[in-house]
Formats: sequence, C-alpha cells, structure tokens
Amino acid sequence: MSLPEGDWPHKQNVQRKKYTCGYSDCSREVGSDKGWEFHQSSNSQRIAHIYICPVCCRPTFFDSVNQIPGTQLGTNIEHLPKEISQLYSEVRKSTSQGAYTAAVLSCRKLLMHIAVEQGAQSNGSFVDYVDYLVDNHFAPPKSQPWVDRIRQKGNEANHEIKIMVKSDAQEIMTFLEMLLKFIYEFPQKAQSAVLPPGQ
Ligand SMILES: [Zn+2]
Repeated sequence: MSLPEGDWPHKQNVQRKKYTCGYSDCSREVGSDKGWEFHQSSNSQRIAHIYICPVCCRPTFFDSVNQIPGTQLGTNIEHLPKEISQLYSEVRKSTSQGAYTAAVLSCRKLLMHIAVEQGAQSNGSFVDYVDYLVDNHFAPPKSQPWVDRIRQKGNEANHEIKIMVKSDAQEIMTFLEMLLKFIYEFPQKAQSAVLPPGQ
C-alpha cells in the first residue's frame, strides 16, 4: 500500500547507505542518505541509523547487527488468488524476522493446498502431495535431488517439532515460488499477451 503524497518533516542528511528496503511490498535495492542517526551520549559515536527509502518513503532501522524490518526471502509473484497471495506474503514476512520454522510450516501448508487444487487426494501426507506435484510435471526435470531434500524434511511425524534454519526456508520457498509462477502467474501473462488490448 503506497503512502499518500507527503514527506517526513525534520528528516536529516545521513551517511549514504545501499540496502534492501525492509518494507515487504517494496523490497527494492535502494540507496538513501535521508533519515536519522542515534548518537551514544558517552562518546557521541553513531551506533544506529534509520534510513528512509527513496522509493516507498518507509523507514528501515539498522544497528551493527540488525536490519528491522529485515530482508525477506522470495520474490513478488503476480496473479495469485487472494488467500494464496496473503499466506505467501506472510511466509515472506516471517523470513524477514528470522522465523524460518513458521515460514517452512506455512510453505508446506501452501504446497498441500496447491496440490489438492491441482487434483491430488485431500487426505494425503505432505510427502504424497510433493510426489503428486512431481509426478504431474510441476517440478522441472533436473530438480530431483532438491525435491528429495524437501520431501525428507517434510517426512516428520506430526508430534515432532524441528527447528528450521534459513537454508531450509530457502529450499522450500524456491520450490513454492516455481509452482506459484507456473500455475498462476505464467498462464495469466500468456493469456494477456495473446489477447488484443482491452480484452
Ligand atoms: Zn521501500
């Protein structure tokens, strides 16, 4: 959602920084020299910054370790049905907060939803759904080792809790992104490419 026309009063010139905007709907690589600096009172050292994104006008905070909101995994995908788009956006936001277990669980939920929508039986396990998507050629030909890892990790019992790390989230999100593009985005784009303007 874009901000209405306006500006931040009293913003200052700060040391220029290149970064990825933390606002989820922007996420652009930007350079900014506008914002505020935090000065430590004991020695006036600058230890934190707030930068204003020149594209979306929203602030991102930095100290020596953190960026808040952080950079999220995944890319924007167009033409998603509303609920899928909402859940995919939540997955991306949780990766920006380092909540990779929550992201992986939501990705699995989305994968199962997509498989059922594409004709899989609705009472299967996560592994059944991944197999269904692979067997029905939704995964590219050379993706077998990578899909096997997703399958293995998803093969845990319902009562188990396994904490996930960034690479786990990256792996399943890449698979999910590919499916979302293949099933929702490309067909719409292809359709609008062949229709004359206005239809
Ligand atoms: Zn931005």
